[in-house]
Amino acid sequence: MTRSATVPNPARRAGSGGVVLRAVLDDGPIARSTVARRTGLSPATVSTASTDLVECGLIRELPEVAGPTGLGRPHVPIDLDTGRFLVAGIHLAYTHTTVALLNVRGEVEARARLAHTGDPAAVLDRAAVQLLALAADRGGARLLGVGFAAGGWVDSASGTIVDHPLPGWAGVRVRDELERRTGLAVRIDSHARALIEAERLFGERRTRDSVALLFVGNVVDAAFATGDDVHQGPRAAAGAIAHQPVDSDVVCGCGRVGCFEATLSDRAVLREAMLRGIVDRPVFDDLLRLALAEHGPARELLIHRAFQVGRAVARLADLLDPEVIVVCERGVNQVPGCLDAARAGFAASSSVPRGTAEILVASSFPGLSLPVSAGAVILGELYRYPVATVRELAGASV
Ligand SMILES: [Zn+2]
Repeated sequence: MTRSATVPNPARRAGSGGVVLRAVLDDGPIARSTVARRTGLSPATVSTASTDLVECGLIRELPEVAGPTGLGRPHVPIDLDTGRFLVAGIHLAYTHTTVALLNVRGEVEARARLAHTGDPAAVLDRAAVQLLALAADRGGARLLGVGFAAGGWVDSASGTIVDHPLPGWAGVRVRDELERRTGLAVRIDSHARALIEAERLFGERRTRDSVALLFVGNVVDAAFATGDDVHQGPRAAAGAIAHQPVDSDVVCGCGRVGCFEATLSDRAVLREAMLRGIVDRPVFDDLLRLALAEHGPARELLIHRAFQVGRAVARLADLLDPEVIVVCERGVNQVPGCLDAARAGFAASSSVPRGTAEILVASSFPGLSLPVSAGAVILGELYRYPVATVRELAGASV
């Protein structure tokens, strides 16, 4: 089964089925009448959409509940059916691949981490084998499709990693390669855009109005969305800020001085930690563990980075004025004091008066952002066009 990405509506706005499914995701179990009230859809539209969603196996009806004493009629609440379908997520990082299975609530049900060994074909081979093994272990639920997320320049429309310098992938047709290996439909996207999709669906609800996201790990990139539209750009290159200048004299591999990624990425911070004798091997988890154990120099290094990250976030915020900016950075997400330092850096650099704590938030998925973002690549499509997506991915029999 080889399919190309379909985008039924160029604006990528959810239809009524998607609106109902998201209301059930947010607040289920829930009465249809409450869905109508909260979404502004007519009761008839909610009723038709719910029937379609029940038929295709995304939601289920719960036992009838009596109305409050003397008020209202009994009703049949609806909720997500998390037992019928799973999706797979594959996340490509600098040194390893994460393979995971998620239910339609975005919860990770199984995952594995594979160190890279060899060229892209070898990495995709191992990921596909692992994915099919995880799925075989689960039994029961049907695997709908695969979401794939990676840093670097990713073109979802053609299913290609255009250029991801860190693992050295360029012009790799990931979608076709994975569809051939798994027999499943595959969707791919940049992991910053995928992380936004994950937040919008399963994380911070204010991101649904407008959101920017800054990812700082071994790679640095960004993304933004307004309403349902996660911006890709005509070259699918939106969010490529790795080589924007920050205040530093670090020489970057691109030949310029003071690039964001060369100065503030996990690799850059680790290099500094080794120079200062804080860690004796380039393993970020070592630095994180020390910082969490309140090792002064380790914490200081991460707090300094968080402050710099906050300054960069302020530039994005002043440019885009989003409702909220999500920062995905392991210090900010996990080490006490780092989120405050990022907010201090933000406040020191932004020129727009607003509540810093309200706009700058940490990721909703600390420790799980890789599998959840990869799964969100395909779950995002499912929540926009649920019935059409299930019919297309699972076959006309559903
Ligand atoms: Zn550079």
